[in-house]
Amino acid sequence: MSSPLTELRRHLTGRVVLPGDPDWDDARRAWNLLSDQHPAAVALCASTDDVRAVVAMANEHDLRVSVQSTGHNATAAGPLTDTVLVKTSAMREVSIDPGARRARAEAGVIWSEVTEAAAPHGLAALAGSAPDVGVVGYTLGGGMSWMARRYGLAANHVTAIEVVTGDGRAVRVDHEHEPELFWALRGGGGGFAIVTAMEFALVPVAEVVAGAMFWPWERAEEVLETWRRATTELPDTVDSLAALIQVPPLPEMPEPFRGRSFAVVMAAASDGPDSIAGLLEPLRALEPEMDMVGPMPAAALGQLKMDPEEPVPATGGSVLLTDATPETVTELVRVAGPGSGSPLLQVELRHLGGALARRPEDAGVVGTVEGRYLVFGVGMPMGPDGAVAIDAHVATMTDALARWKADRSVMNLTEHSTAPRAFFAPGDYDRLVAVKRRYDPDDRLVASHPMTS
Ligand SMILES: Cc1cc2nc3c(=O)[nH]c(=O)nc-3n(C[C@H](O)[C@H](O)[C@H](O)COP(=O)(O)OP(=O)(O)OC[C@H]3O[C@@H](n4cnc5c(N)ncnc54)[C@H](O)[C@@H]3O)c2cc1C
Repeated sequence: MSSPLTELRRHLTGRVVLPGDPDWDDARRAWNLLSDQHPAAVALCASTDDVRAVVAMANEHDLRVSVQSTGHNATAAGPLTDTVLVKTSAMREVSIDPGARRARAEAGVIWSEVTEAAAPHGLAALAGSAPDVGVVGYTLGGGMSWMARRYGLAANHVTAIEVVTGDGRAVRVDHEHEPELFWALRGGGGGFAIVTAMEFALVPVAEVVAGAMFWPWERAEEVLETWRRATTELPDTVDSLAALIQVPPLPEMPEPFRGRSFAVVMAAASDGPDSIAGLLEPLRALEPEMDMVGPMPAAALGQLKMDPEEPVPATGGSVLLTDATPETVTELVRVAGPGSGSPLLQVELRHLGGALARRPEDAGVVGTVEGRYLVFGVGMPMGPDGAVAIDAHVATMTDALARWKADRSVMNLTEHSTAPRAFFAPGDYDRLVAVKRRYDPDDRLVASHPMTS
């Protein structure tokens, strides 16, 4: 007997994969291999009409719908029981309008596809640190790029969004059309509508001065403190972070790094070498073991952080800080540096401020990031209790930094389902709830960090 889900196959150009199908495990797998999602079906949508068909079926049969392009943030979306998971990875069209300095990306496009298409025109995108992060998921959550201090959040460079609403309508939203929905989608996450394509501004940056410097991690405190002091004087065109990195002894890791631990500084300047001199000079005086900072194409920024490009199991968390003092550095090194026994493979202290602290006119719901620094820690669980140990250590780290903790959190760097109030100013949260009620009145759409209408 056919069920509504098998029936859905007749209405889609893309495929519908159901539990028991031979490729069920492949279809339900997310980039983050820790996510063990068990949706009612996976719809591999190929077009806006496919997405509309899924939403119509869900409305008719009282199912819910969740959307992923890559599954980088899948752990925050939960198990997805009684939910149809729309995967947009087949919707991959990218177009660049060099004259208008704009890009349009369909919902399954990843950042490397935009940066590579933009580069021949001397343009860059406000892309995520990893080349395979999804453009739409990243931008819906704000989007902090290697040029965030100069240009602010990626969400506030969006010019139009094509969506299917929870009640099944396909609409194009921008400042003039459905402005409340447009406001909510720029930083509020994916719970208000299913995005089928996004248009956004590109920036005229062809080349950057960027790279990483490595020291043995016994020198963590002096490196991180030297970096922190330098950040207090840097122009907005320089973005940087200092990190404590423990490289696992895996054969796929390159030889100079494999099985070693380091204090690292990574930085990118988008306006030439002069602006970054105030950061590089004091750090070079500390004689790094490896110094890879130099001119490179802006499109190569996706390789700077050496984030894994293949799916991995990962868990972690972030803390937004109002400020960082010498004591902040001491605490961070105590909980995540040499002798700490930390299971976190990477803990980074990132410099914010600049344009991230200035609300643009006509911004979306997240106009600014209300903290001067951000700490993010992540680990890759190896054994069955690995994830528990990593999450417990993130909690220890958060407690150690409690003195400097800002009131809000950053959605994109929150890996566990969190009450979304934490991401927004109180008045903005109430406004978001009103948008959710209007565009998804039956709470059909489940986002990472679900917000109910
Ligand atoms: C290795 C790594 C590097 C990262 N680097 C950065 C960084 O530099 N800066 C930064 O800001 N963040 C960064 N992130 C965080 C990243 O931006 C978030 O995890 C983001 O949610 C990923 O989007 P995605 O589409 O790839 O993931 P997915 O898990 O596919 O999607 C995440 C969520 O976005 C929503 N969503 C996705 N597509 C749609 C759609 N079409 N319609 C409606 N909702 C949708 C859904 O709620 C979904 O649950 C990084 C994450 C990782 C793992």
